Parts: sequence; structure tokens; C-alpha cells
Amino acid sequence: NRVWQLAARPTGFPSPEDFRLVEEAVPAPGPGQVVVRNEVMSVDPAMRGRMNDVPSYVAPFQLDRPLDGGAVGTVVASESPDVPVGASVLHGLGWREYAVLDAGHTRVVDTTIAPASAYLGVLGMPGLTAYAGLLDVAHMRPDENVFVSGAAGAVGSLAGQIARLRGARTVIGSAGSPEKVRYLVDDLGFDGAFNYKEGPIRTQLKQLTPDGIDVYFDNVGGEQLEAALFRMNLHGRVAVCGAISQYNSPEPYGIRNLSLLISKRVSLLGFLVMDHWDRRQAFVEEMSGWLREGKVKVSETFVDGIGHAVDAFLGMLRGENVGKMIVRLADP
Ligand code: NDP
Repeated sequence: NRVWQLAARPTGFPSPEDFRLVEEAVPAPGPGQVVVRNEVMSVDPAMRGRMNDVPSYVAPFQLDRPLDGGAVGTVVASESPDVPVGASVLHGLGWREYAVLDAGHTRVVDTTIAPASAYLGVLGMPGLTAYAGLLDVAHMRPDENVFVSGAAGAVGSLAGQIARLRGARTVIGSAGSPEKVRYLVDDLGFDGAFNYKEGPIRTQLKQLTPDGIDVYFDNVGGEQLEAALFRMNLHGRVAVCGAISQYNSPEPYGIRNLSLLISKRVSLLGFLVMDHWDRRQAFVEEMSGWLREGKVKVSETFVDGIGHAVDAFLGMLRGENVGKMIVRLADP
């Protein structure tokens, strides 16, 4: 059983040396436990935060201990009457080939209606993040102008599409390459998009939002958040979902002009998806309908082999993914 451990706490951008792939025996399942052969696993921006030894909403990863995260696999041994051998399950022990855990900590998923990877993306945590952030946190209403940063990623690509499907007047996105900008407009139906690495952010955003922004779904923080404040309309709402531009940066970006919030009565609302699980069923129903009708385009980038899981994680932080970055474990 190959398992990834945290070998050192990264400073700044992580390097491959901060991780170690070790071989461990698969323990026999205890009463109520299952053994899962993982097939796909997620690499998430939040994992970067857990590599720092600081108190947060989830415990930090421990040095010389396995990493963990979302994964879907097949049950190959079971000591639980509830989850039989052969079931596909979603659970939290990724970064390893075989996971042994309590059946109660798994959720059986139907991989005949959607592929395993969907439960890590469009029908899973990133999808719910986009849905709840847009509708329950920012309270987006039809006919509003929406801006989504990190728009070509897992959460952003869905936030933009949900905004369009829920009747936004315009949906504008930002991403880090000309190909991604084209993808947003040509394939995902954004009304406009810009490359934040090219040209001044404030000018580009101003050009694309002549009627201002009512809802900003913020995945990146930093300079783009600052630029958005200038474009927010009266009573606008910012759903502060993530700040990936800051996760590897030793010097946090100091947001200026926060006083714009006062004159424009703008709300800046941070949120965590884990506080919105009660919306999971509504989300899955609505998203499944959109998928059946072909109204949502699923974006995924695959990296093959447990041995390349760290490459996938670092690649995601560098922006090598379009949509959800998924590691398929089957190959070496
Ligand atoms: P993505 O699939 O969006 O992957 C990360 C992307 O971030 C990369 O593809 C890259 O795209 C972009 N990026 C990297 N560096 C920068 C930078 N300096 N400035 C701007 N963009 C950058 O990841 P997720 O969809 O999983 O997550 C998106 C955000 O949502 C993250 O901030 C994450 O922490 C947050 N999140 C929050 C949750 C919550 O509960 N609040 C739950 C899940 C995610 P590009 O090529 O465009 O640079």
C-alpha cells in the first residue's frame, strides 16, 4: 500500500521534497470497518493550508504521517453489514492506495449514474461550495451581474455556470491563461473573461463590467479582491470563498480601499462549505437535473498514478488544471 506522507512543512510554494511516498502494510479491518481500494483522489487548495502548523478549522497535517483528503474507491473487504464488498464509496482517506476506515465514515455513491470523479467535483464538495456560496451566502438573484475569479477551476467553473443557469444578467470570469479565458467564454458560456496575469487587473475588470458587479464570487483574494471592490454596486455581496493567491505567499497582499464597503453598503461574507451540508440534497437534485439536460459542462483534469499525486497537487497550485484536478490511482 503506497501512502503519501508530509516530510517537511513547506515555506512558500511547496516542493516535491516536502512529500514522501512510503510503503505500508494494509491493516486488517476491525469490526464495522471496510477496506477501500482507492480509484480517484482529490487534490485541493485547502490542503496547502493544512501543511502549516497553525490552528484552523481542520487539524494540520502531521509530519511523517499520511496526508488525507477526498477519495472514491471500491470496498474490497468489509466487516460492516451496511457497506458490502463491491460498493463504491466516497470518504476522506485519499493519498493512499488502500484505505481502512469505519463504514460510518464512508458514503456509498452510484458510479453508474456519474463517474467516481464527479463525486469529488461537480456533484461533490466543490460543486456544493459553488452552489451554497453563490445562492446562500451571496444570495445571487436573477438579473444581477456576477464576477467569478479562479473561474476555470473546480469551484469557479461551476459558480459561473450556476450563476448563468440561475438567471444572472452577465457572468464575467478571470483565469490565468489565454486558453482558459477562451474556454470560459467559448465553452462555459461566460459573457466575458480576462487573464489576470496579462495587463492591469483593475482596468481589465472595469472594461468587462460596465454596469458594475452585484455579486463577486472570490476564489483568489489579494489584488483581484481589491480591484472588485471598485466595481461593486450598491448593496453588492462578495462571497469570500478562497484566497489562493495568498496561500503560498510569504507576504500577504494588503487590501486597500476597504472603506468602499461603507459608501456602497457592500457585504464581504466569508464562508465554509462544511457549514452548508444541509443544502447538499437540494444542490445534488438541481445539479443532477442540469447535468442530465446537458446544461452544465463538467471540467476535469486527470493525472495518472499514485506516484504523481504530488505533481498533481503542485500542478493545481500552479494552474495546470482546467476544472477539478483529479488523480487516478490505477497506474504506477
Ligand atoms: P481550482 O480548481 O480553482 O485550482 C486552483 C486554481 O487557482 C488554479 O487552477 C489556478 O488557476 C488558480 N491560482 C493559482 N495561483 C493563483 C494566483 N496567485 N492568483 C489567482 N489564481 C491562482 O481549486 P478549487 O476550485 O478547489 O478551489 C478554488 C478556491 O476555492 C480556493 O481558494 C479554495 O481554497 C477555495 N475553496 C473554499 C472552500 C470553502 O469552503 N470556503 C471549499 C473549496 C474550495 P489559474 O490558471 O487561473 O491561475
